Formats: sequence, structure tokens, C-alpha cells
Amino acid sequence: MSDLATLEARYGAGNYAPLPVTIVRGEGVYLWDDRGRRYMDMMGAYSAVSFGHCHPRLVAALTAQAQRLDTISRAYFNDRLGPFLARACALTGMDTALPMNSGAEAVETALKAARKWAYRVKGVPPDCAEIIVADGNFHGRTIAITGFSSVPQYRDGFGPFPPGFRSVPFGDAAALSAAITPHTAAFLVEPVQGEGGINVPPAGYLAEVARICRAHDVLLLCDEVQSGLGRTGKLLACQHDGVEPDGVMLGKALGGGLLPVSLFLARRDVMGVFAPGDHGSTFGGNPIAAAVGLAALDTLVDERLVERSAAMGTYLLHRLADIDNPVICEVRGRGLFAGVELQRSARAGDVVKRLLEAGVLTKDTHRNTIRLAPPLIIDESQIDWAVDRLAEVLEKIASPSGQAQYEAETSG
Ligand code: PLP
Repeated sequence: MSDLATLEARYGAGNYAPLPVTIVRGEGVYLWDDRGRRYMDMMGAYSAVSFGHCHPRLVAALTAQAQRLDTISRAYFNDRLGPFLARACALTGMDTALPMNSGAEAVETALKAARKWAYRVKGVPPDCAEIIVADGNFHGRTIAITGFSSVPQYRDGFGPFPPGFRSVPFGDAAALSAAITPHTAAFLVEPVQGEGGINVPPAGYLAEVARICRAHDVLLLCDEVQSGLGRTGKLLACQHDGVEPDGVMLGKALGGGLLPVSLFLARRDVMGVFAPGDHGSTFGGNPIAAAVGLAALDTLVDERLVERSAAMGTYLLHRLADIDNPVICEVRGRGLFAGVELQRSARAGDVVKRLLEAGVLTKDTHRNTIRLAPPLIIDESQIDWAVDRLAEVLEKIASPSGQAQYEAETSG
């Protein structure tokens, strides 16, 4: 381990287990370590770096704003927030937007809005509102959110959790329908589950979910923190099913890879339940975040990155599907959001380490899946290079001698 990694490991909380590489510089789809070695970033900071690292237009927006006006809190109007919120609403078709910082905060905002809407608008008796979520979800790391996670580790040791949530199988609209009661306020769902393993639901699932929610006066809340802003080849992943949700959460790429910037966007009657003092955040909607968020949205449109994600995503998925190796169980994804599920014996964590050695940064996620979410600016030749490295690594893994050699190399 480098000295810098040792320092981080010594003084950090140990809640991450980073790969043995210390990154010091980034540009476009590339990252460099402290030894000057270049890597292709096929992980994109869990989908937060859609524009490529240190995009000049976004860095310029950040620095110009930082030199003019920094944080003033929401106690006053600022000249950047209105244009940012207006642009986000115009692009997504929503009426209103509430700015926060992290994705988890945007989800918490949605949960609060849904509960208050249930009491004020739907007429659910006090403290009885229920929110339905999907098995395999990932919506962040707060106590409320991890309380309805289906991953035991995320819950273990952190209870008691707030009541009022129930979970149904992802991709099963009939199960949602059966779970709805007169107290149901909302269904919260990722249109494509990211951390859960890049799980794409059956075609038409979300459209059916939207129909069920409308029929029962239940809000449909789409968590697009990871799947939104072009990641799946549409501005919002729910648009693949032609769905207009009642509320949408955005984050990650909204901050251009430079800052945490998130939004909860909703119809006016949903957002209208918030009164001054009900909810907020010291840094949410600060001028720098708003300037960067606006520049990110403008860049997404001007550089036609949604269309690019669709085209390059199709190319990436074809290239992955063409890898002829029995170690691969399934290739799935949408746009530049892909998962390669491996046989259990292949150990995705080992594959990720070998890819690092080969100059490709990825990360494994649930179901022994290697996730690929490169910056949306990636081109065909870069995809070719990364997929070739993956194919080589899997080739070695598949051969018993290659696996034995790797185990011998890494055991010492
Ligand atoms: N929602 C989804 C779908 C996510 O994938 C994530 C993070 O991976 C979050 C919410 C939480 O975002 P953050 O880590 O910024 O709190």
C-alpha cells in the first residue's frame, strides 16, 4: 500500500474497502494513480461522473461561482437557484424541485413529502401512512432508508428502524397491487436497480406500476439518483416505459462529479405540502451547487449525452454479450449502465482486482456482478479497449491454471 493509502486506512473509519490504488488526477474517462499509471474509469464514481472527470465547462462554472458568491443559506434568495430549478423542472416535466445535497437526502425528502401528502391530501389517518418499496432496493444509507433495505448487512446493528415501510418483489406489478392498502401513500422504486445488481425490470413493468398507483391514489416516486440524467439512454429511465411519475429524485451526475447536488422534483400538489420550516438543508441549493447543477444540465443537453449514452450503451452491451466465456451467466443493462453477472465460482472481486492491474477501474456489486457505468462521453474505441481487457481477464479466470496462478500470486 502507498503511504497515502496507509494514512487513509489508519485514520479512516474503515467503512469502505478500497482497491489498492491511490488516484491523484482525472481527465475525461481517465484517472491516474500516484505512480503516474493511467486507468480507464468504467465505474464513473457509481454513476456520478457522467461528464467525464474535471469537465472544463463544469470546472469553469464552479470556479467562477466560487469567486463571486459562495454559500448564503436559504434564508435569502440567490441568483443561481431559480434558474437551476426552472431548468431541472423544464427538462423533467415536473412542476417544482427541492434542492438537497446527497441522493439519500433527496430520497428522505420524497418520503417526507409522501407521508405529509397522505395525511393532508389523501386523508390517511395520522401516523398510519405506509410506503411500499421494492426488494433489492438501494436508496442510500440513512436509518430510515437502510431500515427497508433487503441487504442484511445494511441493517445489522443499526435498528430500531422507523415503521411504515413494506417491501414487494421488484419487477412484479401484481405484488405491488396486492400490497396496497387504503393507507398506502407511495411506491418508491428505482426504474433500474443499480446497487442491487443493474436489474432491469420486465418490459412494461413501470407502466403497469404507474397504472396501479393512479388507480389507488398512490404516489409513484422514481429514484433516478443513479439511473437518471441519461445513464440508461433516456433523460429519465422511467421514460423507457413512457411513465410520468409523481415525484423524481436526482443526484450523483447532477453535481457534475464536482459537488454533491440532489433534487426532489414533484407535482405541485405533492410538493405543496411543505411549509416554511418543514424541511431544509444548510447547503441545499447554495449558489455554487446551483451554478454547477445548471451547468451540468446544460452540458447534458448541449453535448447530446443522453443520445450518446443510448448509442454507446447499445454498443457496450453488444460487445459484452459477444464475450464467449462460460464464466459469464448474464449480461444486462440499459444505456451505459451495464452489469456482467459471473458464476459464483468466478468471484467478481478477483476479476475487479485483475482489471485494476490491467488498467480498468470497475467494482463488483450484488449477485457477483461487475458493474460498468463509465462517463457518458466514452467512445467506441475506449469501450473496445475496456471490453478487450475484461475478456482477457475472464479468459484467465476461466482456465484452471490461470485461476491457480492468480491465487498463488495474491496469497503471498
Ligand atoms: N438512490 C440510488 C438509486 C442510489 O444508487 C444511491 C447511491 O448509490 C442513492 C440513492 C444514495 O445517494 P448518496 O450516496 O448520494 O446518498
